[in-house]
Amino acid sequence: MHPGSYRGGDHIDLIVVGAGLSGSEAALACARGGLGVLLVTTSLDTVYNLVGEAVPLTPPPGTLMAELCGGRTVTTFELHRRAKAALEGHPNLHLLQSSVSGLLARDAQVVGVSTWEGVDRFAPRVALCAGSFLRARLRVGELTETSGRLSEMAYDDLYDDLAARGFTFEEARLEAPPSRGAPPYAVTCRRFSDAEWDAGTFVLPRLPGLYAAGVCASGGLTYEDAAVQGQRLAEALLAAVRVR
Ligand SMILES: Cc1cc2nc3c(=O)[nH]c(=O)nc-3n(C[C@H](O)[C@H](O)[C@H](O)COP(=O)(O)OP(=O)(O)OC[C@H]3O[C@@H](n4cnc5c(N)ncnc54)[C@H](O)[C@@H]3O)c2cc1C
Repeated sequence: MHPGSYRGGDHIDLIVVGAGLSGSEAALACARGGLGVLLVTTSLDTVYNLVGEAVPLTPPPGTLMAELCGGRTVTTFELHRRAKAALEGHPNLHLLQSSVSGLLARDAQVVGVSTWEGVDRFAPRVALCAGSFLRARLRVGELTETSGRLSEMAYDDLYDDLAARGFTFEEARLEAPPSRGAPPYAVTCRRFSDAEWDAGTFVLPRLPGLYAAGVCASGGLTYEDAAVQGQRLAEALLAAVRVR
């Protein structure tokens, strides 16, 4: 495999699942580092999405978040638009709206992902940055939805595939406070159990070539911590490619 040879889909070094904070950070840093990156996310309308409308952030230096904020307080929508433009503008990165429904493996090594739409995507490395969307259940009052954030659909397929492969999980719970008369809500989801995930290398040893970062690996994180994890994931991935 030759890093940097991605030209509009002919070769992909890395698939990142989820264009939230950690996935967007990791995908763009890897693309800038020369990898051909396919960033797959359920909806292009929720790229780099936060829970609130205008969230005060303290962007960690060196992150995409710092670039996007540019030293100012920005709204969630501004952050989303700027992140989407930055991701779509990089020649090594292809941002794709699609839902990943499972992993593809050959000879005990990850080789890509299957999608709900039916098109398989292949790469020698897959990074899961699925946030609070693995077997997510959102509760508002008495109502329960399968959403990882308000109005953001979650599908159980990827979780079911991972569980069928023997991965073990713990439950995580995140809460959104009431806002402008709207009621509070809570999301319960799954994150990889500590035995499955190496917090130093981001590797999931059960399936070589598979990595994870963000809430699906760590559980509850601040926005800033999720951004930093994305950057650190990119460093680990770029280092792993260099030593091959
Ligand atoms: C209800 C709630 C309230 C929160 N409140 C705060 C707060 O006040 N302050 C704070 O600092 N943090 C808060 N957080 C935490 C914050 O959301 C996370 O730290 C941060 O967004 C996590 O980043 P991430 O990259 O792990 O996941 P996310 O940013 O959630 O990104 C995950 C992305 O993966 C995509 N995805 C998931 N599954 C698939 C799939 N199968 N195929 C394709 N794409 C997929 C999703 O659509 C999403 O875009 C809250 C979280 C929740 C759920």
